[in-house]
Amino acid sequence: MTSSIQNRKYATEITAANEGERVSIAGWVHEKRDLGGVFFLIVRDRSGFAQVTLPRKKTEKELFERVKRVPRESVVAIEGEVKREQKAPNGFEILPSRVEVLSEASQVLPLDTTGKVGAELDTKLDARFMDLRTEKTKHIFVIRSRILKAIRDFLDVRGFIELNTPKIVSAATEGGTALFPISYFEREAFLNQSPQLYKQMLMASGFDRVYEIAPIFRAEEHDTTKHLNEATSIDVEVAFEDHEYVMTLLEELIVFAYTNVVDYPGLAKLDLNLEVPKVPFRRITYDEAIEQISGAGEEIAWGEDIGTSAEHTLGKIIGELYFITDWPCAIKPFYAQPAGEGKDTCNAFDLMHPRLELSSGSQRVHSYELLKQQIESKGLSADSFEFYLDSFRYGMPPHAGWGLGAERLLMCMLEIGNIREVVLFPRDRKRLVP
Ligand code: ATP
Ligand code: MG
Repeated sequence: MTSSIQNRKYATEITAANEGERVSIAGWVHEKRDLGGVFFLIVRDRSGFAQVTLPRKKTEKELFERVKRVPRESVVAIEGEVKREQKAPNGFEILPSRVEVLSEASQVLPLDTTGKVGAELDTKLDARFMDLRTEKTKHIFVIRSRILKAIRDFLDVRGFIELNTPKIVSAATEGGTALFPISYFEREAFLNQSPQLYKQMLMASGFDRVYEIAPIFRAEEHDTTKHLNEATSIDVEVAFEDHEYVMTLLEELIVFAYTNVVDYPGLAKLDLNLEVPKVPFRRITYDEAIEQISGAGEEIAWGEDIGTSAEHTLGKIIGELYFITDWPCAIKPFYAQPAGEGKDTCNAFDLMHPRLELSSGSQRVHSYELLKQQIESKGLSADSFEFYLDSFRYGMPPHAGWGLGAERLLMCMLEIGNIREVVLFPRDRKRLVP
């Protein structure tokens, strides 16, 4: 027995112009409509919908009765003749000669795939395989794939190479921050919170321009709509360039990603009027940001991090994608390059969407002495960073880079409220299954 469907066509490959032809389709029973004298099956495949029509009088009794009993969401293969039908999806229907049930669904479904009955996010995530059959959810992940491909194309053209760094590590990237410990034979290890140290070490390799698209793990305990415990980070590191260069690279990459989504036909299903942002993005310094936030009546002192509430206040004022530059050294990691003598700011930036932070980056410290000093001044032990520091002792070029959250980009672009919606199987404080 073979399970491949001969000459299978997608629903959208068939049109009224195929009238009289015999075709095969396969998919899920999306809807059943019984009008007494005629029975309709709406079959859904990855491309769209096809109407399968069974006129009671002209259909063999056994076939008619069998089709009527097929539970919704069962997987079926249909062979039949195409007929022009204006009232059907895409202007055609199929008059079946054969209907094969490849996999029968249970009668009670965990979710309604037609979108007529709404469901809570938790219900959708519990039955994610089924939720992915709905139009809206499906398109989110097709768009995600498009964005990642666009980003790879963009970086490829600019001479970047894609690498993968370890996700099981012995030390924290920035110390202190919440890590997931794992048992690693007779030792303790951690899931990496960022490829930061490794991508910087690769700058000493001569690759010059590297990127990685991979999971990061953060043991953040809080329950927010923008934090995951397992997220996807798009990380870039470039040698012989500074923060200004990688900011321009980042804004151009974002625009390229948007450009590759605006013409996606499924966008209509998301009720979205997507506009490609214009470069250059606005740039404001940390000082200006603090001034704006204070001016809007929210207390914030110089040197304080810009928290969620302040982020929203500022986002409302600015109303478009923007950079915050020239951060105080004290609230940026040890690897951010200080601005210079007499200044207490560093060459670090955040790329902001009015709703939240999309990316953080900086020019990096490339002097071994300064780096060691900065690690220690943050109260960390240089010993646990020896493997990293070593790569700065034998020829390390100046370099800069950033990390961009893939899910945050996707949720902002598609105006989706909760980050969990743009992850197939999200990991949060409560969610470890499925
Ligand atoms: P935030 O302050 O918004 O929590 P962060 O400054 O801690 O973010 P970074 O360490 O700068 O995050 O990480 C770089 C990027 O990775 C962030 O700008 C964000 O897009 C993404 N990111 C970081 N942590 C998470 C998370 N827990 N869930 C989803 N995305 C994340
Ligand atoms: Mg950040």
